[in-house]
Amino acid sequence: MSRDVRESRGAATEEAAGVQAGSPTGSLVREREEGAGRSKVVFARPRALTEARTIYCPGCTHGIIHRLVAEVLEELDLLGRTVGVGSIGCSVLIYDYLDVDMISAAHGRALAVATGVKRVLPDRFVFTYQGDGDLASIGTAETVHAAARGERVTAILVNNGVYGMTGGQMAPTTLPGMRTTTSPAGRDPELTGFPIRMPEMLASLEGAVYLARVTVTSPKEVLRAKRVLKRAFEVQLQGLGFSLVEFLSSCPINWKMDPADALRYIEKEVVKYYPPGEIKVPEGWKPLA
Ligand code: SF4
Repeated sequence: MSRDVRESRGAATEEAAGVQAGSPTGSLVREREEGAGRSKVVFARPRALTEARTIYCPGCTHGIIHRLVAEVLEELDLLGRTVGVGSIGCSVLIYDYLDVDMISAAHGRALAVATGVKRVLPDRFVFTYQGDGDLASIGTAETVHAAARGERVTAILVNNGVYGMTGGQMAPTTLPGMRTTTSPAGRDPELTGFPIRMPEMLASLEGAVYLARVTVTSPKEVLRAKRVLKRAFEVQLQGLGFSLVEFLSSCPINWKMDPADALRYIEKEVVKYYPPGEIKVPEGWKPLA
């Protein structure tokens, strides 16, 4: 984690807490039913989310994604039989935010650990939560082979195009021309290659049966992302094979943008290289409208 990031986080702790998954504003909100004389819950903290305040920077979309994971786990009645595997990166403390059994894997090894858990405890629901530097670089081999083996686990890839925790270095997912601390003049594919589209790359593997990409840049997209994530989880529950959902996520601190501009950047630029949608669905499934 860079000094800038730490300072920004510290200064903005209270502000950030108001928009993050484990924040007071995420807690129970009640609305009185007209004429019924009693309260009806219309919005509540998912039971799978703890009350811990997250340390994410203001505007970081990790908090939204955590909440979606928690909501889907609850709606599919998976609490009590879920094992999540976190890895190294900004989300390394995810075990503090999700109230399910969590394991922290070594950098890049989450899908290897998830494979072991699922094979020993096949009745558990097993997912990984990994950044792009973790899943698409340091853990590329683990990812490819877990998918090739058709492991009955679900991978959640949070792609913000940089190594966020360590200060915004170039990642395999960094867009051409994008400036990072290790590509200050902009990423040059002639020198460093082209970004990797993980779902498309995995699509040729028979064991990978559900592959999708989503954004969380607006309420509409958040709702769509939730439907996609639920489908990925259902693939595992039906024992069909490996599933992966890539979230295009923001990193306003390292992108040096304010949070709103970071979301606009995803909508206008990032999706051109990483088109959202379902890249592969199981045989017989209709793609989402
Ligand atoms: S991903 Fe970026 S914005 Fe989010 S917590 Fe990490 S450094 Fe901050």
